[in-house]
Amino acid sequence: MSIPTARTRHRVVVIGSGFGGLTAAKVLKRADVDVTLISKTNSHLFQPLLYQVAAGILSEGEIAPTTRLVLRKQKNVRVLLGDVEAIDLTAQTVTSKLIDMHTVTPFDSLIVAAGAQQSYFGNDQFATFAPGMKSIDDALELRGRILGSFEAAELTTDQVERDRRLTFVVVGAGPTGVELAGQIAELSTRTLAGAYRTIKPTDCRVILLDAAPAVLSPMGENLGRKAQRRLEKMGVEVQLSAMVTNVDYWGITVQDTDGSERRIPCACKMWAAGIQASPLGKMIAEQSDGTETDRAGRVLVEPDLTVKGHPHVFVVGDLMAVPGVPGMAQGAIQGATYAAKTIKRSLKGHDDPARRKAFKYFDKGSMATVSRFSAVAKVRKLEFSGFIAWLAWLVLHLYYLVGYKNRLTTIIAWLIAFAGRGRDQMAITSQMIYARVILTKAGPHAQGALAAFERAEHREQAEATGRPGTG
Ligand SMILES: Cc1cc2nc3c(=O)[nH]c(=O)nc-3n(C[C@H](O)[C@H](O)[C@H](O)COP(=O)(O)OP(=O)(O)OC[C@H]3O[C@@H](n4cnc5c(N)ncnc54)[C@H](O)[C@@H]3O)c2cc1C
Repeated sequence: MSIPTARTRHRVVVIGSGFGGLTAAKVLKRADVDVTLISKTNSHLFQPLLYQVAAGILSEGEIAPTTRLVLRKQKNVRVLLGDVEAIDLTAQTVTSKLIDMHTVTPFDSLIVAAGAQQSYFGNDQFATFAPGMKSIDDALELRGRILGSFEAAELTTDQVERDRRLTFVVVGAGPTGVELAGQIAELSTRTLAGAYRTIKPTDCRVILLDAAPAVLSPMGENLGRKAQRRLEKMGVEVQLSAMVTNVDYWGITVQDTDGSERRIPCACKMWAAGIQASPLGKMIAEQSDGTETDRAGRVLVEPDLTVKGHPHVFVVGDLMAVPGVPGMAQGAIQGATYAAKTIKRSLKGHDDPARRKAFKYFDKGSMATVSRFSAVAKVRKLEFSGFIAWLAWLVLHLYYLVGYKNRLTTIIAWLIAFAGRGRDQMAITSQMIYARVILTKAGPHAQGALAAFERAEHREQAEATGRPGTG
């Protein structure tokens, strides 16, 4: 299917509805262009708060407003749900797929903000037992597994098995791992305290491990040590220079620096280590005049964030590799703003691709929460921690959340969780826990098979009732 175009305005296709994609579309608001934003998710996901969905503090809707509704009033944007499967830089088309429907969208300018996925460093089989933390599905699955482990521990009378079910291992001591470990510790000591009859949730063991020798390495030694001390005070075991060599149903195998291996029996494992860029990066690079990708699959873009030989094809956000630009929301927002403004300039005839000013990143700093009322933050050379850092974290996250209603409900949820002991989003369903594994096993044809099944059912019903079917 080809998208009909009524006019012949400059056509911009944006791939992705994350920080990069949504920013690009918004910056083009008053431009004389037709924007088509294509994303495989129908929402704009605020990834930095995913761990709070996993920990039962926030609902998925609070951190993932519907993109179509966010952009409802911006008349020059059309939002399409679809998984981009092909980009043809010569024909200037993008092909996306929704269930078994294929859509071809032509473009004059393209902004690719397809982000990154979890990387298991070549051990994708680990994913079955240790879900990552990149999507709403991941966060809900983790919530199901975390709370499910407490439930399963309550049921067993075997002490060894109970201990295994009450052992939670987070792999990766970056911001996500630190935040997740801290939240599980608080969940057990505050929220769930007194809620079980057989087990004491406070007996649970939370282990944060990393192959690197420090916690939060990109934030420097000082803040890393502070975060580690705070975690340890909360009862989290921090195991560093510990490389995961195997993950299975029963636990995790770890290799220490002396080469010896040990087992950690545990039911609930979470993977917050490493990312792999979207395969769309490689697809574009291969069609360019010599642009390459790095080991994580990110595109080594030109100084103006384009690929060689295609001055109107921009790659931004986690998918781009630019020295000094971290894979963070600010990198994506600033890169997308730069790309969209460059397109706007070219429409006015003010853009000579050969003489474009290079993209310049402005470092606004980074932060991570460790527990309620405690965070670490770094803004260039300035480092701070504790309550002040936590307040800064709170204000900034509220500022960047999209939508007033979401901000309001988030403040209420935080009041309940941080001032009190409660958490409002503790429901778990079978779908959360089993759906991903079953879908993965069903393979890439699962969606098509389901659609075919539904059509057959529909025909049967139409024949039985004598009414003509539409499917
Ligand atoms: C758990 C977690 C915590 C984080 N915490 C922080 C933090 O505290 N501070 C910070 O600054 N950064 C943080 N980050 C990093 C930050 O979220 C990313 O740098 C940022 O989201 C990158 O934006 P992006 O637009 O490049 O990609 P994303 O936001 O990942 O968006 C990618 C978009 O592309 C879509 N997409 C992907 N493939 C396709 C396809 N084939 N077809 C169609 N659509 C596709 C996706 O559906 C999505 O909408 C965190 C990330 C994670 C995962």
